[in-house]
Amino acid sequence: MIENESGEDYLEAILRLSAEKQDVHAVEVARELGVSKPAVTKALRILVQKGYVEIAANHIRLTDSGRAYASSVYEKHRLITRFFIKLGVDAETAEADACRMEHLVSPATYAAIKRFTEEGEA
Ligand SMILES: [Zn+2]
Repeated sequence: MIENESGEDYLEAILRLSAEKQDVHAVEVARELGVSKPAVTKALRILVQKGYVEIAANHIRLTDSGRAYASSVYEKHRLITRFFIKLGVDAETAEADACRMEHLVSPATYAAIKRFTEEGEA
């Protein structure tokens, strides 16, 4: 696991970008997250060390473990967004708050949010 939340944000951004296009570059990750290119380079170095990301010919790719980790963060992102919307929060605020909560929520609280949010749904 990555100890800081920004590592998770990078994995999540790479996952979203790679769903949209074949090749993901550092500059697109920088734009997606609103950070500088040097910040992306530094974060990528750590993610490569941890085995979550591979870089070849300037293309950024998630490894299998990186993809699994990014998917679990993104799943939390989507579910917590739905939870806030269910509470009556507007979609934009719900999304922004979910993207912070997803890094902080405990497994027990997340399980409760998931139960509550999916209650009454198919
Ligand atoms: Zn997020």
